[in-house]
Amino acid sequence: MNVDFEHLREFYARGASVREIFNLGVRYRAEGRKPIDLSIGNPDVKPPPAYYRALREVVKECEHSSENLHRYMPNAGFPEVRRRVAAELAVELDVPFEPRHVMITAGAANALDIVIATLLWRREQEPGVAGKAGEAGEQRDTTPEALLVAPYFPEYETLIRGQHARCRAVAATADYRLDLEAIEAAIGPATRLLVLNSPNNPTGAVYTAEELSALADLLIRKRDELGTAVVVLEDSPYHRIVFGEHQFAPMVKHYPYTVFVSSLSKSLGLAGERIGYLAAHPQLAAGEESSAVFSAALSAALRMRVVNAPALQQRVLARIGIGPHVDPREYERRAVALGQILAPLGFRFAYPQGGFYLFAEIPERFQDENEFRAVMHAGEDPLLYVPGTVFGGEAYRRSVRLSACVPEAEIQRAGAKLSSALA
Ligand code: PLP
Repeated sequence: MNVDFEHLREFYARGASVREIFNLGVRYRAEGRKPIDLSIGNPDVKPPPAYYRALREVVKECEHSSENLHRYMPNAGFPEVRRRVAAELAVELDVPFEPRHVMITAGAANALDIVIATLLWRREQEPGVAGKAGEAGEQRDTTPEALLVAPYFPEYETLIRGQHARCRAVAATADYRLDLEAIEAAIGPATRLLVLNSPNNPTGAVYTAEELSALADLLIRKRDELGTAVVVLEDSPYHRIVFGEHQFAPMVKHYPYTVFVSSLSKSLGLAGERIGYLAAHPQLAAGEESSAVFSAALSAALRMRVVNAPALQQRVLARIGIGPHVDPREYERRAVALGQILAPLGFRFAYPQGGFYLFAEIPERFQDENEFRAVMHAGEDPLLYVPGTVFGGEAYRRSVRLSACVPEAEIQRAGAKLSSALA
């Protein structure tokens, strides 16, 4: 008798869909076909020379030090790195962060995971502590809820459901802005968390300071009504990839119950090196004691997962800080080129204001996305993209996410494929 893993299939399949398409590309290549892969957002702009200079210095320092500089460190990161990140974020986001509010993480994904695990943890999850079957009054549903603005990055759902919490999706407006009325209506006594993502994956929306300030007013009103505040998890790994006249506006500046998350994955093209950070607003955990408990819990969650963020990358961060970044215009040019291909072919979309992606509705001549996919995957040059349903279900069944984070030649190949298939 083999071990049965069938029960894992449905749960882990959710967030895996983007990877599956990536793997499909690997299969097509093995078959000798030449896929045009606009599925995954794998940053292809290289880090600037300052990064490599610092990396060389760090390697030299480690090699020649009498000490072993590759050892364990405090789980939340080297103190000097937390100091530097806190100081830079305080200026950039206009929030008085101190080093104790900042943690260095293995990318934004690790930060999201530990914040979600910490905020949604509850005693009732533990067997033998509560929920004793059959006892009157123990059947109360205490399941916490997290709100997601749809369409949304599917990993949020996996992380939240992994904590046995419920996700409630609140659709964005038709032009992918925040629907404040819908958010207000969705908040109830079980709501613990609202995940906000700007610049947005998949829509490319960058929320304005006005939108975020109105959202903050609403959340404060709800706090007063419900007696407890909803925490905003501000996931902004694309915050340096913003186009044209648009500007990144941070929610953490407007709303004190916010944890800001970002990474160097996109800003420096270091996605494979796993280095990122979080900063919890100083007023989020009010008082010394509460603040100490919250950071100890986050540190423990980090320790349980990756122990600490990579030492070498942290030492680079200590030298260059979080300021240096790739030129967002490189990505903007590609997004515009892709948009210029799609618009005349009948796709409906808003040009992205930042990030890596373009989220478009397929032309009306296709009955559904299956029909579109059959055409796109046919031939020697299958065009790979992520179906819209991955980002929030059936409401997005006529949408597709195309990554503009590929070399310009790939966008031109996509153009040729689309034009000949849709002519
Ligand atoms: N959040 C969003 C919206 C993303 O698109 C990604 C990566 O694609 C992440 C988080 C994870 O980023 P990181 O590589 O820093 O973990």
